[in-house]
Amino acid sequence: AGGSPDPDAPPAVELDGVTKRYGDTAAVDDVTLRVREGEFFTLVGPSGCGKTTTLRLIAGFEEPSSGAVRFAGESVAGVPPEDRDVGVVFQNYALFPHMTVGENVGYGLNFADPPEGVTRDERVAELLELVDLPDAADREPESLSGGQRQRVAMARALAPGPDLLLLDEPMSALDAQLRERLRVQVRRIQSELSITTVYVTHDQEEALAISDRVAVIRDGTPEQVAPPRTVYREPATRFVAEFVGDNNVLAGRVVDAEGSESDGAPRTVAVDVGGEPLRIETDGAVDTAPGDRLTFCVRPEYLRIGEGESRLAATVENAEFLGETTRVTLDWGGRDLVVRTRDPLSGEVVVGFDPEDAHVISVNEA
Ligand code: ATP
Repeated sequence: AGGSPDPDAPPAVELDGVTKRYGDTAAVDDVTLRVREGEFFTLVGPSGCGKTTTLRLIAGFEEPSSGAVRFAGESVAGVPPEDRDVGVVFQNYALFPHMTVGENVGYGLNFADPPEGVTRDERVAELLELVDLPDAADREPESLSGGQRQRVAMARALAPGPDLLLLDEPMSALDAQLRERLRVQVRRIQSELSITTVYVTHDQEEALAISDRVAVIRDGTPEQVAPPRTVYREPATRFVAEFVGDNNVLAGRVVDAEGSESDGAPRTVAVDVGGEPLRIETDGAVDTAPGDRLTFCVRPEYLRIGEGESRLAATVENAEFLGETTRVTLDWGGRDLVVRTRDPLSGEVVVGFDPEDAHVISVNEA
């Protein structure tokens, strides 16, 4: 993605052991996160996992039950939202219908002055230019599309020149095509301003497409915080492996392990998942011995028909034509396997993968 944030910069936003309880439930459960200056950081996870609550704690609409929120190293405990220098855009952050687009953007300047040397009108024009609606100042919000309205909402949030931009599912009310276009624009705007951004979505594909780093959250706690490629290729937990993208997660006992355990080099192990043992490459950081229970995953795009070192004989159960590929569900001894192919499949098939295409998720864990 766009700008490359400096990894040595102090964290723009820091959550340090933050918990938020509502009655008996911890919506946010002992979360420690660091968002870097200029970073596009995304909180992704299923409904109810605590994304919105986390964002509200950063914005100052909620205070933590315990733990600290810090901006650039300083605690913001007790600092109200309007004094935090944050711009916020919600899913349904309705524009004021009785004001023009320009007045809506200008409204963002009622509580904070425009940057020095810039008049209010100049600032509004600048922001409308930024969100690619240079001629929209005199239009009524009603005459805009949903995507255009969300861009105006972004312009309004950005008008005072906040240090931090918080976006809570700003695209979830829009149709799929519009979302894809808008996310490119959101990312461009963020890159142009190099503004630290925390983005909330339940859409894992959107999270991968737009972010510098992603926190995959489950039940109030991040299970992995990493760049999109790492989250996709090296999921840290079974939940991450199954939540992000399509995946085949398998588990079995190690029956044979080649090579020495401690030299740090990749090793290939044979795993009994039922049927012929499957050969899996571990990344060297993983210590395994015969008898260990290994959980690993193989992405559908790595399962090939009639090829690969480790092979599985399965039966076609279901096929969904998706255009570019067909997503085929196979029954393999009572388990579902997903493959993606270009050619139609039916009946009995043999699919395979090479040891290096498997990723080990855990050893001796449930
Ligand atoms: P969604 O994507 O559905 O908005 P989310 O991941 O943003 O979900 P939150 O809205 O942060 O999740 O909610 C996390 C948990 O905390 C949920 O179980 C929710 O019911 C609970 N919760 C959130 N706000 C409150 C509140 N004000 N009072 C009581 N419970 C709350």
